[in-house]
Amino acid sequence: MPKVPLRTRLFISHLIVMAVAIIALAGISRLSTPRYFVVTLERLEGRGIRIQQMRGQILDSFTDAWARGMVWSVLLGGGAAGGISYLLSRRIIRPLIRMEQITQRFAAGDWAARVPPSDIPELHQLGHSFNRMASELERVEQQRRELVSDLSHELRTPLTIVRGYLEALTDQKLPAAPETYERLIRETQRLQRLVEDLQELSKIETGYLPVQRQTLNLPPLIQPIVQRFRDQQLTSENPKIVVEIAADLPAVTADPARTEQILVNLLGNALQYTDIGQITISAWCQKDRVWIAVQDTGIGIAESDLPHVFERFWRADRSRNRRSGGTGIGLAICKRLVELQGGEIRVLSQINQGSNFQFWLPKAT
Ligand code: ADP
Repeated sequence: MPKVPLRTRLFISHLIVMAVAIIALAGISRLSTPRYFVVTLERLEGRGIRIQQMRGQILDSFTDAWARGMVWSVLLGGGAAGGISYLLSRRIIRPLIRMEQITQRFAAGDWAARVPPSDIPELHQLGHSFNRMASELERVEQQRRELVSDLSHELRTPLTIVRGYLEALTDQKLPAAPETYERLIRETQRLQRLVEDLQELSKIETGYLPVQRQTLNLPPLIQPIVQRFRDQQLTSENPKIVVEIAADLPAVTADPARTEQILVNLLGNALQYTDIGQITISAWCQKDRVWIAVQDTGIGIAESDLPHVFERFWRADRSRNRRSGGTGIGLAICKRLVELQGGEIRVLSQINQGSNFQFWLPKAT
């Protein structure tokens, strides 16, 4: 079946409606008007006006005049209505055609294509919804591109180092010393950590990470974590880890495993970026939020860097942290884990003074 464009169909449907209206109008009027006229004439005769001989003539003249008037009405009225319905169909169809062209441009990869506003409210709303969807898709596409580019950058560096070492070993330019193999192991461990972190982040972002929220008491969760970190400290010069938790701290609604993961990450970072001083873990309640803070006296973060701290792959000093094994994903994971549990995370920091990472979890009801 040949496809008739919507504009033509809309126009034809207007014409059909108009034709039906005209036929009904003309037909009913053709049948009823002469009868009413005869009734009027009879009434006049009843009042004594003599029109007996001329009655046939008068009726014919009336029918003739009515027919002429009708032809002109149909021609002019029909023409005007046809013209208006053509303009109306065009007015409705034009933005739809434009919208279709824009969706095709968008599908072909023109991510900036947006539907212009329309003065027809329903079409305006449709265009607005399309534009919102387009912006969201554009954002996801942008993130995907950034991720692929970041990822290739992150993978390239350790791979280049490993390859360099292996080539030097093969050419015997480097002695097969234990330090060389240790370096190789470190780089492969870094790669492994990167892949594991990414897997974790991807699970959270796609919503595959189960979060089992329950009423949770924080002190029994925090103490063993702190003890584990204290046990790992080799020298007494390491920063002291102090816990300051209010005795009447209410319980929270949270997943114990995920909360532990957040704390381990923050505490691990605090130790990594603090040479001397103290690391304080505190917790307090404010309205229906229970705040937990990990404060250190380490290298701190520059003010200009603070907005980027929770972005994945972000590191204050890429070359230095790469050596220390950081992937720049830990805080991105922390942020998402906190948000998954209904809370928020923030950081206060001053360069060379220390950092204070704080997050809240909802108080148990
Ligand atoms: P990484 O594995 O590199 O530590 P994170 O996402 O945990 O990744 O941290 C991102 C960056 O934020 C780190 O590379 C570091 O530059 C900075 N950072 C995180 N925690 C601290 C801290 N306590 N003190 C100073 N800088 C920090």
